[in-house]
Amino acid sequence: MTFFIPDRTLCSICEQPLAHRWHAAQLPYADPAVVGELARMGRRYVHRACWNAWRDRDAYATSALAVRSRDPGTVADAAVVDRDATLFWHEVPALGTFRLEDLHVLFTLEIPTGDACRLAGSLREAASAVGVSELAAGGELWRLRREGSRIEVARSCNGELLELADVPFERYLRWVEAVRAMCDRATRRPADPSPRGGSE
Ligand SMILES: [Zn+2]
Repeated sequence: MTFFIPDRTLCSICEQPLAHRWHAAQLPYADPAVVGELARMGRRYVHRACWNAWRDRDAYATSALAVRSRDPGTVADAAVVDRDATLFWHEVPALGTFRLEDLHVLFTLEIPTGDACRLAGSLREAASAVGVSELAAGGELWRLRREGSRIEVARSCNGELLELADVPFERYLRWVEAVRAMCDRATRRPADPSPRGGSE
């Protein structure tokens, strides 16, 4: 099931209730040919702490990346796969965004296409900032705070915390690279032709 009900929805790893949505991560689909029965856990929720300590995490994440990379809907949008980092991003034209999916941390960022360049710069600055960095992205507020070799990333909307994860710093830098690449893609795109044609 994919509905989340606080204190009722159970973690698929420890089978204890999940108190808050932001305690939880939703599992992506994995390939039953690789992870067997575990593939039934696709779209279910887990505690982030349970996921981080789970012995099957790496196999599940790698298999999930393979499944995402084969999804015709996203591949058609020229998906970019970073296999080393288990990262996946593609454009979502219907939403006017790029979507970055980290299948190891279990975190998804929606980056408005027109904001990709600004956010690439802000995310890079946040990496070396002291204290908390706050970034507006679409209708969301992202709060980032460096803690030694990790960076805490929180997404909220209208004051409600949606997701909170600790991201290894090296991995966070891969996110920054991905958003930089989104900026490149967004700016490389030719401008909409005028009805009478462009300069060509
Ligand atoms: Zn759990």
